[in-house]
Amino acid sequence: MTSVPLPPAPGTAGHLSLALANSIVTLPGGLRIDELNSPEDATAWLVSHGLAPEGTGLLSYCQLQLAGLRGDLRETFRSRTEGTAPAPAALDGLNQALTAVPSAAPLHYSPEGGLVRGHIHPLSRVVAHAMAQIAEDAAELLTGPDAGRLASCAAAPCDRFMVRTHARRQWCSERCGARQRANRSYARRLDRARAE
Ligand SMILES: [Zn+2]
Repeated sequence: MTSVPLPPAPGTAGHLSLALANSIVTLPGGLRIDELNSPEDATAWLVSHGLAPEGTGLLSYCQLQLAGLRGDLRETFRSRTEGTAPAPAALDGLNQALTAVPSAAPLHYSPEGGLVRGHIHPLSRVVAHAMAQIAEDAAELLTGPDAGRLASCAAAPCDRFMVRTHARRQWCSERCGARQRANRSYARRLDRARAE
């Protein structure tokens, strides 16, 4: 089992939604790597993608929200690549993330401070804003010029999504391509051996 991280799948650099969808991956042998495995990991993911300021500390509630959006994204991407209808709950989740960010800061009153304007839970605002940006990117990806090139990696068990750089590209990485070629030549040898 390798511990070297896979290079980002094609399209990931330009699409936050693809980056989030691919933040969980199944490696050969069935090992799953989850970049949102803890509140600390989820924080690091947001910071490294420019979606939260350094020093943010997510709560497990926020971590679960982000992981929930990832599940909705993966389901919607899967349905797009298979040409089927997405689960209504996944579409709801995406739409909630798209619209959950209030545009105006509300007024608050306290006897000590009087009237102040602002959001009471700045941390959940950070996460809601991040999720809105990711959902916005997903909506654009799914309906824009790249939509037809959205694909899932063909080298099982890899389950990453990508935007194909050319029509015949079927693998998210050289490593997956090499594994798929090895699997195919093994299958061909097996077929020949059976035919003899
Ligand atoms: Zn792959």
